[in-house]
Amino acid sequence: MTFELDATHRSIRDTARAFARDRIAPQARAADAEERFPSELIPELGDLGFLGINIDPAYGGTGLDTLAYAIIVEEISRADGSMGLTVASHNGLGSSHIARFGSEDLRKRYLPRLATGEILGAWALTEPGSGSDSAALKTRAKREGQGWRLDGRKNFITQGSVGGVCVVLASTDLAKRHRGITAFAVEPGTPGFSAHKLTGKMGCRASDTAELVLDGVHLDDSQRVGDEGSGFIDAMGILDKGRISIAAMALGLGEAALEAAVGYAGERRQFGKAIGDFQAIQWMLADSRTELDAARLLIMRAAALADAAKPFGQEAAMAKLFASEAASRVCDRALQIHGGYGYLSDFPVERHVRDVRLTRIGEGTSEVQRMVIARGMLRR
Ligand SMILES: Cc1cc2nc3c(=O)[nH]c(=O)nc-3n(C[C@H](O)[C@H](O)[C@H](O)COP(=O)(O)OP(=O)(O)OC[C@H]3O[C@@H](n4cnc5c(N)ncnc54)[C@H](O)[C@@H]3O)c2cc1C
Repeated sequence: MTFELDATHRSIRDTARAFARDRIAPQARAADAEERFPSELIPELGDLGFLGINIDPAYGGTGLDTLAYAIIVEEISRADGSMGLTVASHNGLGSSHIARFGSEDLRKRYLPRLATGEILGAWALTEPGSGSDSAALKTRAKREGQGWRLDGRKNFITQGSVGGVCVVLASTDLAKRHRGITAFAVEPGTPGFSAHKLTGKMGCRASDTAELVLDGVHLDDSQRVGDEGSGFIDAMGILDKGRISIAAMALGLGEAALEAAVGYAGERRQFGKAIGDFQAIQWMLADSRTELDAARLLIMRAAALADAAKPFGQEAAMAKLFASEAASRVCDRALQIHGGYGYLSDFPVERHVRDVRLTRIGEGTSEVQRMVIARGMLRR
């Protein structure tokens, strides 16, 4: 057992950290304020191989392991939660679903372009009426000739209005509930398919989030991703790994907030001393450091199990649950240490507090993670 990164992972971390510091951090505040998706950064992320993490080199990807995936998302999130979410969801959801379950034809058609960032991947499970109970989705896919007709609505879809391909989960048989769900790759521009960008998000405001409308969308059967009726089971496997990346996103935001808090505690003087000399501040820093280290270890364990091809769903849920809740506490304490200045957007910690909130909701709420963990315990 080792708690240190090896040379390969240290090198990936250093590359991601430098790129995040030099290219992502400088634009983060303005993009957040303007709710602007920074599309100019996408080709650069592609050049670094950060958009083909879960794509095999045979299709132009980097085919990195889960630990590398977590490291990259953590480092990017340190600079900007919005870009962390973009990289996490593009790699972990849309691209992964096609890479793992798509036909050879679909892989050849989409993966090389997804890996370079020529197109971004989106993944649409959530609907206005079904979030945590995702198997209750109502989007219908009906057989029509050689293909399918899709009708329905999806909500909160990351990259929904900027993606070049969206994996849409739809029911081919409502009576079968989760066993009647099938995945389809839908391209923007397909007649009947439209995306409407959502604005006014609390955080991750530079990440693209959209509502999707499917109104009589005709698809060839070749656009089906995976077997008919296996879409939901495949999606749950996709979410298991995705949750490690959301945990890593939380960790990155927590690390950024703690670093800022330590710096501020050393500089800010009150009562003739640096505030870091007060025990109340020291305890906040100590609790934050301890909780982030615990989160990191849970993430590393889940990633190590995934990379060893062992079951890791419960461990991924624990990593996400703990990391997202711990990082939320860490960001909140960091704001408290900044006093009134932490409440101003001049200091990044205000943005971190808003961005980290998503990590307790996206890819399954904290309550859903607890359900996954407890179900696993009761099954064993
Ligand atoms: C910025 C953003 C990006 C997103 N990106 C995507 C995406 O790319 N693709 C996608 O498909 N979805 C995406 N989502 C959707 C996200 O996964 C859902 O919001 C989430 O799963 C919760 O669903 P809901 O919002 O409908 O809440 P609900 O399911 O309505 O939950 C409301 C509350 O009830 C609780 N609750 C529900 N059921 C139970 C239960 N059985 N026991 C205890 N408590 C329960 C929940 O935990 C929550 O606190 C995104 C969401 C956001 C905000």
